[in-house]
Amino acid sequence: MLTLEAHVVALPMRVPFRGVTTREAMLIRTDRGWGEFAPFVEYADAEAALWLAAGLDHDWPAPVRLHVPVNATVPAVPASQVAEVLARFPGCTTAKVKVAQAGQSLRDDVDRVAAVRELVPNVRVDANAAWTVDEAVTAITALGELEYVEQPCASVDDLAAVRRRVSTRIAADESIRKATDPLLVARKQAADVVVLKVAPLGGVRAALRVAEQCGLPVVVSSALDTSIGIRAGVALAAALPELPFACGLATTSLMAADVVVDSLDGRGGSIPVRDVVPDPSLLARYAAPREREQWWRDRLARVLELLP
Ligand SMILES: [Mg+2]
Repeated sequence: MLTLEAHVVALPMRVPFRGVTTREAMLIRTDRGWGEFAPFVEYADAEAALWLAAGLDHDWPAPVRLHVPVNATVPAVPASQVAEVLARFPGCTTAKVKVAQAGQSLRDDVDRVAAVRELVPNVRVDANAAWTVDEAVTAITALGELEYVEQPCASVDDLAAVRRRVSTRIAADESIRKATDPLLVARKQAADVVVLKVAPLGGVRAALRVAEQCGLPVVVSSALDTSIGIRAGVALAAALPELPFACGLATTSLMAADVVVDSLDGRGGSIPVRDVVPDPSLLARYAAPREREQWWRDRLARVLELLP
């Protein structure tokens, strides 16, 4: 494979996410198109190889829909800031609310969710594996009607235990990092929904195979991608035979910058299936500092060696 161009950007975030205030990403242009290579910096090379395979993959199946419905995302902000956050997602009728943040109480979560429910009809929450089984059952009961609860606990067995004790749907996100994980989740009856991301699964077709094999409804999500990475998620969501829930692909709204002029941002509640290319002036404006650029180029060189 001939790498024609690689650009490293450091994009400012509007709200800290996973503890980061800047999202670094490498945009790679080959003779087949633009792709994104942005495994989180702490990921080892072997895991990053799947992200690279996804970034270099342009062999996407034909879409079966022209728009992908998307959800708003509300970080663990005070209830008083909910309206301001939701204003960045005009037209979204589903919101995912972060809960169980360290240093906060269940009362904070209940208040935040109530504030979201006043403005958006479909509410789901994401606990990012922070609860024990008992805490999850207590919290889910206190939070009232939800579309689903994403990753209430860390282990697949604990997800299954929570699922047996509540009527709310359970979604598995962190439990699914590699292609065999959704099958385990399905076999243990640990979730009603699986959250799939294109990059960690190694590409759109690989993710579609996972969806098919596990047989559960899929919510396609992003990993804080630029619009180039979002485009691959849109390709997956657009190719799924069924798409009963809004996807977590409206995440460019959480960033204060993007690499394309007309972001795939979900205004209006959905993302159209359309191609995007980076804008040279944006790549230049958000270019990462030289030592970070070199770090990414070194990483790319190492990870290219790991590709099959
Ligand atoms: Mg999640």
